[in-house]
This record gives sequence, C-alpha cells and structure tokens, in this order.
Amino acid sequence: MSRFLSERRKDLVPYTPGEQPKDMKYVKLNTNESPFPPSSKALKETKKAVGKLNLYPDPECKALTQKIAEMCGVDTSEVLVTNGSDEILNFAFIAFCDDKTKAVFPDITYGFYPVFADINNVPYEEIPLKDDFTINIDDYCGINKNIFIANPNAPTGIQISLADIEKILKTNPENIVVIDEAYVDFGGESAIPLIKKYNNLLVTQTFSKSRSMAGARLGFGVACSELISDLNTVKYSTNPYNINSMTMSAGMGVLSDNKYTRNNCKKIIENREFTVRKLEVLGFSCTESFANFVFVKHKSISGKELYLRLKEKGVLVRHFDKERITDYNRITIGDRKQMEFLIAKIKEILEEK
Ligand code: PMP
Repeated sequence: MSRFLSERRKDLVPYTPGEQPKDMKYVKLNTNESPFPPSSKALKETKKAVGKLNLYPDPECKALTQKIAEMCGVDTSEVLVTNGSDEILNFAFIAFCDDKTKAVFPDITYGFYPVFADINNVPYEEIPLKDDFTINIDDYCGINKNIFIANPNAPTGIQISLADIEKILKTNPENIVVIDEAYVDFGGESAIPLIKKYNNLLVTQTFSKSRSMAGARLGFGVACSELISDLNTVKYSTNPYNINSMTMSAGMGVLSDNKYTRNNCKKIIENREFTVRKLEVLGFSCTESFANFVFVKHKSISGKELYLRLKEKGVLVRHFDKERITDYNRITIGDRKQMEFLIAKIKEILEEK
C-alpha cells in the first residue's frame, strides 16, 4: 500500500478472480468459461473491426443494442450493453444504492457483490441461505432494501422460480431487484419478460459463458427505460466508450449464430449430467445445478485437499475459503474429454487416500 492511498480505500478487500497459473498445462475448470471457441462468425466480424481501431467505438452501441433487444423481445430503450455484466452490476450499485437504500444479497453468492458495495460506500446485508443452500424467499419480501440475486446462484447453481421472483418484486415496489442471469442459458428460465410488468426489475446477462466470449468482456442489462436511463447516466459519467469496437463486432457475430450457442449449451447440460452421475458414484453429493458448473462435496475428502490434489494432477477447480462452503468445490463443466480427465484424476486421488 502506498502512502497516497485514500483513507476511504484502505480497508477495501478486492474481488479475487480464479487463479490462472502458468507453471504447467492445466485443465481449467475454475472460472466457468466455455470450453468451446467463439463462433466463427464472431471471429470474422472481429477481424473487420481491427482495421478501424483508429476510431472510437459507437458510444451508444446502437447496432448491438438493437440485436440484443430483438433477442430479448424488448425495446432498445430497455437495454444497456456493458463491459461484462460486472460493469452493469457495479452501475446498479452506483445508481440505486446509498446509505438510505441498503443492498442485500445471500451470504453465499457471487463474491463481487460485497466488493461493489464496499467500493461505492453502500451498506449491505448478507442474508443466510438455508442449510441446503436454497433461498428462503420470505427473507426477501417487503424488506425495503435493494436486492441482488444471482439466478441460477453461484457457486451453488441452484435456481429460484419466476413466481418467487415476482413475489419479491411485488413486495418491494420501492426498491430495485437485480436478477443476475450470468448462467441462465444452461437450463434456467429468464425473468426478462417480467420487466414489462415491474418497473423495479433489472435483469443482467453476459456473453462470457454460453457465448464463449469471456475474453471480450460483454454483458448487458434489461429493464424499463427509466432504469436504463439512470444506468446510462452512470455509464456516461464513467466510461462512455465502454464497449470496444472489436467486442461490439464479435457480439454482432455471435448473435447471428444462435444455433452454435444453443448447441454448445446443450452439450454443457449433457456433460453436467454426465459429471454429476459419475461424481455421485464416487461418493460426492452435488447441489442441483442449472449452471455451467457443479458444486460438490465428498463424504471423506475435504474440499481444500481435493482442490490441492487436483491441482497437482493438472486440474484447476475453485475452492472458496469460506466457512459454510469450505467442504465444497465448484467445478466448471467443460467438454466431455475434460470431464473424463477430471473423473479419472478424482478416482486416482480417492484410491491413493
Ligand atoms: N455474475 C455472476 C454470478 C458471475 O459468476 C459472473 C462471472 N464471474 C458475473 C456475473 C460476471 O461475468 P462477466 O463480467 O464476465 O459478464
């Protein structure tokens, strides 16, 4: 820490991204990336954009906003495109939360929420999930706070129903409800249609997972036009050119190749089912995941030990040093070969014990 760091930032605990060690070749199942390359159409469009890098990108991101709006069945005024969905989540904390309007989210969820709250000086509360890691919906009804829920949740993969989301929306009409749908394309149901009925709903999605574009940094939010307008004020007050030209073009490309995306999601779902079946035979219990990862615990090997042993054998999974989930590991679903390799290494580890 330098002597110049602001007093306000001294206690800031940053978000810890999944590790990316370079000491050997790993099967990387720790950051919920897609194992599949980006669509060839995304690559083709990106190449075209490179020749125009002398110019600033379109700050309104018009063409891509239009395409996303069409995909979601909403108006362009109801969409904001951002630099990953992390950016729109941060914008939501900046735009809607303050001392008077606290933020709440589950105690076990996406680790960036408390960081966004802290950097923006937003007081927050973490509501404990039940013992089985499901949400007690009543905990979120009529609470007069801004609510952030990942659906499906991370790192558990568990989802809540649209009926439950509506219950939360209805009972908190003076507050924002953010539904973070980073993983919705792997078997979840989107709350986007509800934005027509509830002007306090913001739904966020990403191109990082189902669309194989984590490296491009592209996400978006869908909400009534008034909320989008507020979020745009934040965008134009921080980074008007938040989407670079190459990413914009790649986004257009991948959206013209929905068949590729759908097919990849189908493969991930099949591989998830395959992995859960194999893991259960080996003595693991798995939460019911609707995401591109599974959250698993073994009856006799600790979460930390399994993570470390897998790393030695060339497989990276995500272990969180957090009290209630220390027995667990979050394992990204890759292609079939990667999952077979994972299972083989776990078998070895269990036999060596
Ligand atoms: N929400 C959740 C629940 C996530 O796990 C992630 C990925 N780390 C994000 C949002 C952000 O993803 P991105 O910024 O790549 O869109």
